[in-house]
Amino acid sequence: MFNFHRIGHRILFVVGIVVALGLAAVILLYANQQEQSILEQNERSLVKVTQSVSAGLKAVMLKGYADVAHVYGKRLRAIKGTVDYRILRIDGREAFIDNETTLQVNQSSGSDRFKLRPELTAEQVIAPTDPRLAQLLADQKRQLFYDVMPGIGSVVTVLEPVLADRACMECHKSGAAVRGVIKLTTSLSTVENDIRDSWLMSIGMVSVGVLFIFTAVYFIAKRSVVNPIQAVVQAMAVAAKGDLSVKIPVTGNDEISRMAESFNQMSGQLGQLYEGLQDEQNKLTTIILGSNEGIVVTDPNNNVVLVNPAASEILGKSRERILEEGILMLVDDPEWMQLRITARKHNELAGVIEFNGRILSIEASTTKGTSGHITGSAAIVRDVTEETRLAAELKRLAVTDGLTGLYNRRHFDEVMESEFKRARRYKTHFSVILLDIDYFKNFNDTYGHDCGDRVLKAIGVVLRDVAARQWPESKVHASKVGIACRYGGEELTIVLPELSRAEAAIVAETARREIAELRVDGMQVTASLGVAECSESHQQASDMVVSADEALYRAKEAGRNCVMLGH
Ligand code: GH3
Ligand code: MG
Ligand code: MG
Repeated sequence: MFNFHRIGHRILFVVGIVVALGLAAVILLYANQQEQSILEQNERSLVKVTQSVSAGLKAVMLKGYADVAHVYGKRLRAIKGTVDYRILRIDGREAFIDNETTLQVNQSSGSDRFKLRPELTAEQVIAPTDPRLAQLLADQKRQLFYDVMPGIGSVVTVLEPVLADRACMECHKSGAAVRGVIKLTTSLSTVENDIRDSWLMSIGMVSVGVLFIFTAVYFIAKRSVVNPIQAVVQAMAVAAKGDLSVKIPVTGNDEISRMAESFNQMSGQLGQLYEGLQDEQNKLTTIILGSNEGIVVTDPNNNVVLVNPAASEILGKSRERILEEGILMLVDDPEWMQLRITARKHNELAGVIEFNGRILSIEASTTKGTSGHITGSAAIVRDVTEETRLAAELKRLAVTDGLTGLYNRRHFDEVMESEFKRARRYKTHFSVILLDIDYFKNFNDTYGHDCGDRVLKAIGVVLRDVAARQWPESKVHASKVGIACRYGGEELTIVLPELSRAEAAIVAETARREIAELRVDGMQVTASLGVAECSESHQQASDMVVSADEALYRAKEAGRNCVMLGH
């Protein structure tokens, strides 16, 4: 059925209307001309007939057979298809009926040349005042007019003048230019039939023409417009469903073909782009699934849409549980998690949290599309337990002496520096002990270097123990204990923040005594110690060390295994 939404039907409709109107106009013109032509032909025939009658009548009259003229007139009326056929006088009465003219002619010729008829009254066929008759008499020309007669229908009437010539004048002395009028009225029914037939033929031709053009337009439009457009529409529908491999055959070089070509190019490029995107997505999926870092992603509604195996492993939660609990409950602390997501906005790096016996580093943020709209949030979870332990170990090793396990010289210098400044700023006590093993070269020489190392280690243990001790008479705060360090070689130190020289001397004396009491593999060593307290005379931390070293020197001088106080 006709569907105005379909382009083929619309083309057909428009073309059909235009063609039908055009053909109708042509046919109207043609049929009208046909009608005119038929009427003209009919008129010509009628004129010929009336002219013949006029000429015949003249011949009869001139031969002197005027008495047969009325029979001639009667016969004329009997011709088939004739409505009225008469010979009239110029006043509109029928001629050759009464004896008026015969008497006139006989009288003017002075004879009884023409026989008189039985006396009858001539019928007035046309009124003497009829304008058409008057016109005919005035210009001596034929009159032709159409009429409608009751019971007969359309008729055409020809009034043909019978012109008087010299021969006529011999009998008719009146001198009138027109002697009589031939009136022929015929029905137009035959002519109307012809005209109707002509119209029917024209309408038939129009119908056949329209039908032919409709069919031709239908097939041409279908082939050259509708089918190619449908091919494009179908291909687009297929492409819209995701199959970008679809191609439209390009058959020509018209607009539709170029549209098809453009579509093919577009779908080709889209296909390549889509393939590329899929490849990228596959790569990303492989990376995400294989990543050692846990990855959790949400959609804009905050529903978790992606959990990789590493996330389950690190968090110790099943994928289903993470999907159900949501991103904020990753480490069972929604506020902390929310803070991480917000902190990211301020360019803060990952947050570290202890969860499930592990140390986790979590980097979280909202994700945004190219137009800046929020597409969800994502969290990257790393297990940094081992990393943290190693970092701490590294840090410890960096400040630890390998042999004794005490802090090394670097750390000693740093602590001295910071404690010196602190003591200066807060005007607190701050002391340092410097210790040197007595005759250690000899010891090594006698018992071997390895044995010396063991002794050094054992002394390290004693110093650390003494340094960490809480001295009853001191004002040492629990956190501010002594720090035992290896200064270098067989020289060791204890840094004593917040301790005065006298208090430090007690610590030094304790250490000295416990070292002297120490037995390593049955061996015994002693040590000499120098004590110095931070004072106005010290410009910097190293000045304190110089003071302690000077006291230590004095202890050596004093016979060793003793404690000396510096200035
Ligand atoms: P004193 O200090 O009493 O004057 O005599 P000393 O023999 O200890 O003299 P000095 O300080 O000059 O000698 C230090 C010795 O300490 C030299 C070296 O053999 C020994 N020593 C230094 N570092 C180590 C070490 O790491 N292990 C061992 N076993 N010995 C060391
Ligand atoms: Mg020494
Ligand atoms: Mg020594």
